[in-house]
Amino acid sequence: MPIDTAQFESLLSDARDIVLIGHFNPDGDAVGSVTAAWHYLKARGKRARIILPSPHPESLAFLDPEEAPILVCERDPQEARRLVAAADVLLCLDFNRLARTEYLEDDILASSAKKVLVDHHIAAELDRFDLVFSTTKVSSTCELLFDVILAMPDVAGDPGRIPLPCAESLYVGMMTDTNNFSNSVFPGTFEMASKLIARGVDKDGLQDKVLNCYSESRTRLMGHMIQDKMVVLPQYGAAYMLLSNREKDLYDFKPGDSEGFVNLPLAIRDVQVSALFTENFDGRYIRVSLRSKSPVNVNSLAVRFFNGGGHRNASGGRLYMPLEEVPACFEKALAAWTDEEKFS
Ligand code: 5GP
Ligand code: MN
Repeated sequence: MPIDTAQFESLLSDARDIVLIGHFNPDGDAVGSVTAAWHYLKARGKRARIILPSPHPESLAFLDPEEAPILVCERDPQEARRLVAAADVLLCLDFNRLARTEYLEDDILASSAKKVLVDHHIAAELDRFDLVFSTTKVSSTCELLFDVILAMPDVAGDPGRIPLPCAESLYVGMMTDTNNFSNSVFPGTFEMASKLIARGVDKDGLQDKVLNCYSESRTRLMGHMIQDKMVVLPQYGAAYMLLSNREKDLYDFKPGDSEGFVNLPLAIRDVQVSALFTENFDGRYIRVSLRSKSPVNVNSLAVRFFNGGGHRNASGGRLYMPLEEVPACFEKALAAWTDEEKFS
């Protein structure tokens, strides 16, 4: 469907102070989309700042614009609040609910800025925004943002007019959210990849930077998780792993190091659902990561049992209990999860 960008164009052309916001625990799609938008706006001569609620993984640091470094709200909450209050356009990327900004929900609501959402999650809070680009029929927010940018009057459908750093950020978000073309891939995803590569994006170089960038200790931690921590529950077609703070210390854990762990048990033929439970560094909660093979829908599991949400095949949430209590809680959830919800 063609995207109508008239309202967005008019908001941007009038804007003086634009703030781009991603979600807490930002992943490749969050960092890719905020930095892609920043480069697009810069090429249009627009002033913009990026705010992320918490730091991004080191492997994505090369996307952070040198000229206007990402402001991390956890490090400087006052400045983040000041920027949100002073903005005339807030562009929210890769989250469906303002609560996913963790600290900034009230500030965003209180700001007089026009609020724009670009997102690919289920059930976005449509009424909290002045303008929304939202669909689940794309791989990633970066794919949707690519379609939006392509439809802007100055780009006019020509990928050659997308600034190269913008194109690179878009590619990274798509590549990471699809697990390098293994899930959530639509025909438009390949079209996007093809156009971006023709534009000059170095696919192999980005892959190396983002996916083949881990430490030796991270690779050993991955082995430990599979060998010693993976529990398979054949009666539920499920598997799970627990990652404690003690293990993180032992393996010199850095943010982003557990990226991809939750997918590993899905390589087992009869495992349809995989869960990774990670103790948060301050022990306040357990981060829940869920993955499934089609046609199983883990979004319903995340919403009903784990205070979260996400996508059909990739969701997440939080649990407020000691790590030792998680296995029983997970099994209870699997037992109570109805087939109707599971295949919804
Ligand atoms: P991950 O397992 O990679 O942390 O998250 C997978 C997906 O689940 C994310 O893309 C996001 O859509 C969703 N997600 C993760 N954590 C939360 C959460 O705490 N709340 C909600 N609503 N969604 C989450
Ligand atoms: Mn995403």
